[in-house]
Amino acid sequence: MRVRGLKIGAANHAERIPGIQTPPRSGLGIGVLDIETRRPVIEQAIEMHARPGPIGAFHGMSTPESFWAVDFDRQQWHFSDSATKGQMARTIEALHSQRDRQPTRLREATKRVFFTAQHNHDDDYWRSIYPNFGRSGATGGDSDIVAYDHGPRPGLLYHEGGHNLANALYGEITPRGHFAAAASTSERPVSAYGTNALSEDFAEAVAFYVEDPDRMKAEFPARFKVIRRIMKDGRYGG
Ligand SMILES: [Zn+2]
Repeated sequence: MRVRGLKIGAANHAERIPGIQTPPRSGLGIGVLDIETRRPVIEQAIEMHARPGPIGAFHGMSTPESFWAVDFDRQQWHFSDSATKGQMARTIEALHSQRDRQPTRLREATKRVFFTAQHNHDDDYWRSIYPNFGRSGATGGDSDIVAYDHGPRPGLLYHEGGHNLANALYGEITPRGHFAAAASTSERPVSAYGTNALSEDFAEAVAFYVEDPDRMKAEFPARFKVIRRIMKDGRYGG
């Protein structure tokens, strides 16, 4: 039977995971516990709810791995079976607030997130074509995200989720329509990394929108208008 599990962000988890209190206002039960208290709670939750997941080499992974699966609402997070429970707990702890801040449309564009200790075997290729590139923290674009080198990194779910959202909107990671039009104005991309390609411009704009919408509205109004409408209007195609 499929375990529906680990609703760390949900308000009704208090009776399922002992030790997590439900705060008065938001559903972020885990946020009310201090770091020393909550890590064992997450580890316990992993023990209760993780189940065997897929086996394979995803995106830039060189060799296949077996993964554990943990459900987060409608996303599945997959942890390499070489990861310790403590590493899994650290990742969940670092990323769960990122996940909760995402607009619904962005969150729903990603179905599976994989965390691997491997690096992206395409890094040399990307270094050769992107001037602003060091090494891959993560990759997205096909409704999955793969996080490399033990992840997790700040902004990971927003930027890679942005590639997945572009793919859902345009059928490929390179945006067209109103976003492409906004990008063809004199307004510059929101970051240096966004100058690498229109697809990166879009992913960076999505991440910027989630992290600092007020600043984006002031400094990048053309991109802001398109991204905000994408997030607010589920029928808008961008
Ligand atoms: Zn990217």
